[in-house]
Amino acid sequence: MKITFLGAAGTVTGSSYLLECCGTKFMLDCGLFQGNSEMEKRNFRTPSYDPKDLDFILITHAHIDHTGLLPRLVQKGFSGPIYASEPTLDLMEIMLLDSAHIQEMEAEWANRKTKRTGGKMVNPLYTSIDAESTLSLIRPVTYEKTFEPVQGVRVTYRDAGHILGSAFIRIEYEEDGKTLSMLFSGDLGRPDQLIVNNPSIAKTPDYLFLESTYGNRDHKDESNSLDELANAIDYAYSHGEKVVIPAFAVERSQQIIYTLHLLASQGRLPADMPVYLDSPMAIRATEVFKKHPGYADKAMQDLIAKGENPFDLPNLRYTLSTEDSKAINETPGAAVVISASGMCNAGRIKHHLRHNLWRPGAAVVFVGYQAMGTLGRKLVGGSGMVRIFGEEVAVAAKIFTIGGFSGHAGQKEILDWVSHFKDTRMKVFLVHGEPKAQRVLSGLLKEKFDLAVHIADYLEEVVLEPDAIIESTQHPELARPGVDWGFLLKDSGGLYEELIRRVERVKGRSWEEQVDFRDRLLEVNRLMVALISEM
Ligand SMILES: [Zn+2]
Ligand SMILES: [Zn+2]
Repeated sequence: MKITFLGAAGTVTGSSYLLECCGTKFMLDCGLFQGNSEMEKRNFRTPSYDPKDLDFILITHAHIDHTGLLPRLVQKGFSGPIYASEPTLDLMEIMLLDSAHIQEMEAEWANRKTKRTGGKMVNPLYTSIDAESTLSLIRPVTYEKTFEPVQGVRVTYRDAGHILGSAFIRIEYEEDGKTLSMLFSGDLGRPDQLIVNNPSIAKTPDYLFLESTYGNRDHKDESNSLDELANAIDYAYSHGEKVVIPAFAVERSQQIIYTLHLLASQGRLPADMPVYLDSPMAIRATEVFKKHPGYADKAMQDLIAKGENPFDLPNLRYTLSTEDSKAINETPGAAVVISASGMCNAGRIKHHLRHNLWRPGAAVVFVGYQAMGTLGRKLVGGSGMVRIFGEEVAVAAKIFTIGGFSGHAGQKEILDWVSHFKDTRMKVFLVHGEPKAQRVLSGLLKEKFDLAVHIADYLEEVVLEPDAIIESTQHPELARPGVDWGFLLKDSGGLYEELIRRVERVKGRSWEEQVDFRDRLLEVNRLMVALISEM
């Protein structure tokens, strides 16, 4: 089995893995890269494989960082089946069409600018037609039911408890007369999250591909989140200002409404404070949540059985049109505004921030992960001034960060989930995390469970062989052109030669030692590249 880490390696977006074994080539997740422009350039790179050659694609869940590049693949010739759970299928319909629309708008905007300044016209990353074609390829999958997309590859989806319909995926295959297994955690949920079930427990695989978003920290518990949200609301309400909540349209927006529903039923939501769900995508996603109550946890099902609708509030207003959205900020007075995108890098939320960030007494409540390079990350990091639509905006609003809403397992929860795997021969690859979080988690997995851990690198190719040395190559694309490494050899004072000798020595050691040494070398490599690019 050969795996190529096409994304979510050393970062949290662009989840995608290319898998090749037993005469088949397939992919697991196909997500969009998000964050700074450097990261987003990866979406446009020409793949090193031909999408026509892929036999099928497995999707863990609907989030755009796991599905958002599918239409690009279809545009480039992929026409095989895409497997996903039923709620994922419905959510993907909303998300991919929305994403295509954004891509079309961005290209149109760039081309309008190009026309004025001269230069090369661009094509959108993909179009609505590509998204429609993608949707026609999706085949629904049921949790716990093993299926064989091609002969010899058995696939099982189980509830990952991250968002509605989310799954972790077990793949079993035969190689050299042995049955081997891989487990992709996808995004791992957490116990006692609103709406979804707790993550299922899985059978120990030979290879675990584990997400590590919160590898270096824990979350606060959900009951505090309720109080923290109530505090933010009180703060803005007492100043007659707005509470702006940037939230991912899928799952997080519904969790926030559900929480407000709970606050309202406890009499803690002011009756004269309207709540706007200002995201057409979130409004449509809420309909999908209502359509699949069977995927919700017991608490939510009980509520529904009592005749209560957890996604309803006395003051809830849906704003579908742009005019209605604009009117929110033209109306003075306290209100709660839930809008997307969750990391403030696009969408209506930017307008709400431009209108409210500079207002003392207003509140901005962050309820999700903010990736490096996003506007959200700057605000959470305490920036006093930010740029929105080319204008400087001072930050006078109070910034609240509520960690308890996270759909990702925190450090302790990841470790608890891994503790169910009893076989220490299992090899772990850390994905979907930033380097700092991954280093901490890697150390803990080695220390607590005596596991061999490897932190995957972008475009890294690894040949998986049981009981054998990990064979890993860095993709040629990563070699930086224009950097002359020759001086390192000349001026290293023997250090380089010493390094070569050490690599030779480590080659004969155990898998764990080799992985450990390789990780340290890669870290040195990263530091060197960063230093050299500053020269
Ligand atoms: Zn996710
Ligand atoms: Zn993700």
